Amino acid sequence: MMTINKEINGGYVDSIGKKLRRKITISLILRKGTLYTFRLLFTPLLFLYGILLIIFLKIKLARKKNSSTLHQRAIKYVDEFVSQYPLHLYPVIMKSMELAFINSNMGKILPRVKGEISELAIGEGTLSKKIFSEEKKVIAFDLDPYNLIHTKNYKYVSKRIIADCINPPILYTPFILSNNFLNHISNKDLALYNWSRIAPYALFNENTIYWASGYSKPYLLKLFGFKKTSQKISKKIEKEGWQSLWEEKELKSLVRKYYDVIEEVTFFNEKVFFLSTIFSTLLICRGPPTPRFQKKMLNKLFRPITKYITSNVAKLLIEYDSSLPRNKDTFISWVVNSKFVKSMPNKTILICPDCRKILNSNRCSKCNRSFSEHYNMLFLLPKGLSNKILCPTNNILMFGREHL
Ligand SMILES: [Zn+2]
Repeated sequence: MMTINKEINGGYVDSIGKKLRRKITISLILRKGTLYTFRLLFTPLLFLYGILLIIFLKIKLARKKNSSTLHQRAIKYVDEFVSQYPLHLYPVIMKSMELAFINSNMGKILPRVKGEISELAIGEGTLSKKIFSEEKKVIAFDLDPYNLIHTKNYKYVSKRIIADCINPPILYTPFILSNNFLNHISNKDLALYNWSRIAPYALFNENTIYWASGYSKPYLLKLFGFKKTSQKISKKIEKEGWQSLWEEKELKSLVRKYYDVIEEVTFFNEKVFFLSTIFSTLLICRGPPTPRFQKKMLNKLFRPITKYITSNVAKLLIEYDSSLPRNKDTFISWVVNSKFVKSMPNKTILICPDCRKILNSNRCSKCNRSFSEHYNMLFLLPKGLSNKILCPTNNILMFGREHL
């Protein structure tokens, strides 16, 4: 059975904890120093671009007032992400839209779900904690202990499992939630095959090919007629971001192979994505988080202007997104019902990742292998991964640093 080990993001396995283990060398200090200098120099440009964009969007949207319901809801969530991602518009818009979709659709499913639900690839749980009330019981799965440790204070997380989320060690679970994960998986077919066999309901999302081509460099190259170079750079961005991007119609057809679609929406047009990622370019980063030094400086020293620009640009860009055609969207979200499993017991049962047999007190009832717990995280990894993803012991002080 293929695991994340052999996946497009197989490099991810090797990178776990690597950043924290990096030795401090002169060349690293020089590289960091240059990076920080450029980031400082670009700060006024961030503000200038933000102000100009507000003016441009206000003129552009003067006569357009009819946002979709989803976009209207997303606008209400923007301020929840402003201090998390100051002047980093791509994650602010992405997470506001995702939260709007999740909150407006979970309500339809959750009353039918009585037991613990499973969130696959929960990451640090920063989006998840905005979804669930303290009373809800969620089992949190992630491959990376450095991410999962962040969920330790969330009361709704009942268990933390280090696992391969393509083939989760679950016999059954009433509901699967997974955000910003499938876009990193090349064997999407296998992941959806596995998920559709263990849970009757699921909510997940994907990125389309426009996620890469919407970045400022390939977008501008395409705009000025350099189509081939633009495609080459898009492919590089896709690879560097450990993404496996498909066309929208391919993704929609794959989901229908395993699921009946309850709700499906696309959002974040390539053009809006482009306007957002100019901020990323000026921050000299690609995805979340806002670089640590910038985040501190923008949130403390320049708090009022940072807050004003981030909040207003995000809201205007979401409104602008609502007015654009939906044929070049970067994101798709679904709520689905499995074609193979229509109902299941209202609880989640964990199994051995190798034998797929039920566990008795963290021990496999077939192979007798025992799975250990560290820092309240159960390491339920298949044999091929268990020697690669270990419990961090040397970096306790760094363990828990934000990196999503
Ligand atoms: Zn076993």
